[in-house]
This record gives sequence, structure tokens and C-alpha cells, in this order.
Amino acid sequence: MRNVVLLGSTGSIGTSTIKVIEDLPGQFRLLGLAAGNNADLLFEQTVKHQPETISISDPAKASQLRNNLGKTTQVFSGSEGLLKLATLPGADIVLIAIVGTAGLQPALAAIRAGKDIAIASKEILVMAGEIVMSEARRHGVRVLAVDSEHSAIFQCLDGKPSSSVRRLWLTASGGPFRTTPKEEFPAITVKRALKHPSWIMGRKITIDSATLFNKGLEMIEARWLFDIEMERVSVVVHPQSIVHSLVEFVDGSMLAQLSMPDMCLPIQYALTYPNRVPSQRVQTNLAQLGSLTFEEPDPDRFPALALARKAGEVGGTLPAVLNAANEVAVAAFMEGRINFPQISETVRAAMERHKLITHPTLDQILEADAWARNDAAGH
Ligand code: NDP
Repeated sequence: MRNVVLLGSTGSIGTSTIKVIEDLPGQFRLLGLAAGNNADLLFEQTVKHQPETISISDPAKASQLRNNLGKTTQVFSGSEGLLKLATLPGADIVLIAIVGTAGLQPALAAIRAGKDIAIASKEILVMAGEIVMSEARRHGVRVLAVDSEHSAIFQCLDGKPSSSVRRLWLTASGGPFRTTPKEEFPAITVKRALKHPSWIMGRKITIDSATLFNKGLEMIEARWLFDIEMERVSVVVHPQSIVHSLVEFVDGSMLAQLSMPDMCLPIQYALTYPNRVPSQRVQTNLAQLGSLTFEEPDPDRFPALALARKAGEVGGTLPAVLNAANEVAVAAFMEGRINFPQISETVRAAMERHKLITHPTLDQILEADAWARNDAAGH
């Protein structure tokens, strides 16, 4: 029985993680759960799974939960609560599925407490990949990928070092605007951008999939997870979302991981690694799918990829700036304050104005994050 702490239990990844754990009775125990605002769902999850400790952002909601749950569950709040959960003495693995940057400090705390971590929140490695991976090496803990693309690459690599790799290929569905002409981009509505062709996800990542910033963030994430330079990380558009990513090895051989799109699969692999355990949830019928197609991404309509490549290559504080400016720009787009192409323009402007720090400390990364949020808000 492995004890799991789940940060972001009320979100899309969080609820899928709970499904996976329910699919595998007797193998995992939910030791801790953390949510942002959704106290009702957190309450429901707590009653059902009886975790030892839970946390919610708002202290007032925490005290309400305390009253409703009685003494069997400890209830914490805010960023302190997340740190408490990430370091629970009984935890074997901490799965981080919090949207935004709030997962970074808990990820580091979990590593320093000797816990394996499974990362869905890509912001963590984008902002502080160098620090997170070197701390994980120092403490001898695993950093497991939950993102379907990185899980695919992890499965294909199967322990091979980056010296055996010619190139990592991240697949991208291309999003809802893969074939939309550039002239129509300024008129793209939030409703249309939230209609992803193959995945059902949280709102922020769905918009990121429409701009391709999601793929850009994943390129930087891959660079750190697999210890490989940005120039050997590429993107290919694959609209069917069946091939989740590929590794091209130095001998020219390519390995891919395929399945119908369902996040339960990479989540389960992260939790059960290095074992594969039976599940009936995902069934893939290749003959029924018929054909799988691949195409080049269009750099003109989707500038996010080049911006992310630049941020990843330059490194230092620039990826944190890209990430933070994008988060602010996506929120502005969802509130109707800027149009769709202005998301990448906002990010580009923040990156151009930023005064780079090449080997930043965690504090300097957090300062760059705050600077970029402020800059993007005023753009
Ligand atoms: P959702 O918006 O569906 O869920 C976000 C979760 O984070 C919710 O549980 C939310 O709580 C919680 N949360 C937000 N802020 C805080 C906070 N300060 N403290 C504690 N909890 C907080 O997002 P997704 O599940 O889609 O995505 C989560 C992460 O996983 C993102 O980084 C995303 O990029 C990544 N990811 C997602 C994939 C997907 O298929 N959805 C695929 C690969 C990666 P509440 O709802 O209670 O407010």
C-alpha cells in the first residue's frame, strides 16, 4: 500500500487521479488532499476517502471544513497547508496537480523531505527545472511525469540516457485553430478556444493548447525532465492525439507510445511505476482509427513555440517570465480584455523587457515571476 498526497484534488487531473486510485483498491491510500476553492468537492472526497490531512486555500473555508468534519481529519489552509501536506511523514509520493505556480514550493519541500513526486503542474519545471532536478538528484527521489507527452517519452526512453537520443518529439493536437486562417485569429472567442478537439482539461491549459503555449511549456519541461538541450526537443502536430510523443534514438530508430487520449493512463503509470498494472479503462482500436497523420506546426500563426524555445535556450529567469506573463495574458483573454493574438504579444513584450538573471536562486525566480505578472498586467 503506497500513501499518496494529492495537491489539486478537485481539478481535472486531481479527480482523474482519484478515479485511478479507486480503480486499484488496496494499492494506494489517499493520505492528504489539497484544493483551491472547491470546499464542497473537497468535503465529499474527504468523507469518501478519509485522508489524514487536508488543506484548502481560504482559512475561512478551512475552519468551516473543520467544523463539518470533526476530529478525524486535520484541516490546514493556504500555502502553509500545502507545505504541511507535501511533507507528511507517512507520504510515499506527492502528486502535484495545482494549476499555476503554487505547486513549486510544495514540490521542493516534498523532495527535501525525501518523497517521490509526480508532476502534472508543468509550471514547476518550467520555472525552476534546474533547481528541482538537482534537488531531486541530491535527495535520491524520483520526479515522475504525469503529462501524457512526458509520460510517453519516459516510457519510450525506458532508462536510456540522453546520449542515446537524437531527438525528442512532442506531439501536439494543434488545438481548435489548427486550420483556422490567421486573419480570423483576432475574432476568436473564449468559447471557441475552450473547445479542445481531443482532451477535456482545466480552462487554463485548454487555452494554452489553443495558442500552443502548452506545447511550448512542455518543451521546457522535457528539457529538464530528460536532461537534454532545447535544440534536441521538437514538436510535431498530430491531430488524432493517439501518439502521445516519440523518441528518435541515435541509430535512427523511433519509439512511440500510443493509446486513446485519457489522462488516467499516464497518471496510473506515474503512481505504479516501475510496474504496469491491469486496467480496462483505456482501449485502443487501431483499425477503427484508420489513419494517424503528422504535420509541421505553423510558426507564423502560433508564435508561442518560438517564444518558448527562446526562453528554454536562454534559460535563467526567462522561462519563469514566459510562464507568468502567459498566465496573466490567458486570464485577460478569458475576461475579454485582450484578443487571442495579444496573448503571445503580451508574453513577447514581457520577455523583451525582462532583465535576465542567468543562474537564479529560487527567490530570484519568484521575483522574476512577480515582475512578469506586473509587466503583463500593464501591457
Ligand atoms: P484544473 O483547473 O482543472 O484544476 C486545478 C486544481 O488546482 C484544482 O484542484 C484547484 O482547486 C487547485 N488549486 C488552484 N490553486 C490552488 C492553490 N493555491 N492551492 C491548492 N490548490 C489549488 O487544472 P488541471 O487539472 O487541468 O491542471 C492542473 C495542472 O496539471 C496544470 O498545471 C496543467 O498544466 C497540468 N496538466 C493538466 C492536464 C489535463 O489533462 N488537465 C494534462 C497535463 C498537465 P479548486 O478547483 O478547488 O479551486
